Amino acid sequence: MKVAILSGKGGTGKTTLSVNLFSVLDKATLIDTDTEEPNSHIFLKGTVVEEKSVMKEYPVVDAKKCTLCGACGTHCNFNAIVPGQNKVIVFEDLCHDCGMCKIVCDSGAITYQEKATGQAFKVQTSPTKHYQYGKLNVGEISGVRIIEAVKKASMNEEMLIIDCPPGVSCSTVSALKGVDYAIVCAEPTPFGISDMKMVVELLRDMNIEFSVVINKSGLGDSKIYSYLNEEKIDLLAEIPFTKERAVIYSKGLLITEHDEVFASIMKNISEKVLDFAESIGGKHA
Ligand code: SF4
Ligand code: SF4
Repeated sequence: MKVAILSGKGGTGKTTLSVNLFSVLDKATLIDTDTEEPNSHIFLKGTVVEEKSVMKEYPVVDAKKCTLCGACGTHCNFNAIVPGQNKVIVFEDLCHDCGMCKIVCDSGAITYQEKATGQAFKVQTSPTKHYQYGKLNVGEISGVRIIEAVKKASMNEEMLIIDCPPGVSCSTVSALKGVDYAIVCAEPTPFGISDMKMVVELLRDMNIEFSVVINKSGLGDSKIYSYLNEEKIDLLAEIPFTKERAVIYSKGLLITEHDEVFASIMKNISEKVLDFAESIGGKHA
């Protein structure tokens, strides 16, 4: 069973939900795919048992073969390869390693070289539980290769929680590939709702079953409830805002270990997730 936890924007409590849900499960693996700002390791203590570089490829242009036709630049969606009047400039950090420029180069002027795009870590928190997170190197733009690397290492886990990057970027799509169920973490504020709509659209496009957890309920207004009703979206749980929880979070602690009400909300969510896992049978293995 692979459960993705995502949000329309940063700061909605997505990581709080991910790490605390992980903390109440007896056996689980968590992967933090927010490679620009991974922070699961702040809350989950453990021993780093593996650390490795993640590589990506970027184009190198042979000036002798290049006719400066411009095709590579036209087809690159990320402005990572720019044909000028005298030569082609490659911005390695912007390259998303999609392979398109080589395909469209009729002169055979493009080859690829490898470089490290970031780091992946595996941290053991107990004999039955571990988490993985990746971190992009400074200047690198795309976390897709790191997300693929940490997912590849975990896709056979019995219960996998995937803390997705915020928003609906390529990285989010990559994190969502192959998941069985998604939980959208949203705030009951006007911005929270409009950002959540994009995520809902993405999940529907990808045909992924999902429900919503409203974090910091009691703040904002009731529009989110009307939206969920109109769209027939299941409300999985509500997490009321309290100052005490904000303080526990700011200290880098697991809220489940300091707040019984919060812990029971997480337990409740975990039971519903396990029920869903059972209902889809074969995929829960
Ligand atoms: S597509 Fe090939 S030949 Fe054309 S500008 Fe780019 S590298 Fe040069
Ligand atoms: S591999 Fe893709 S992203 Fe990188 S420069 Fe070529 S077309 Fe652009």
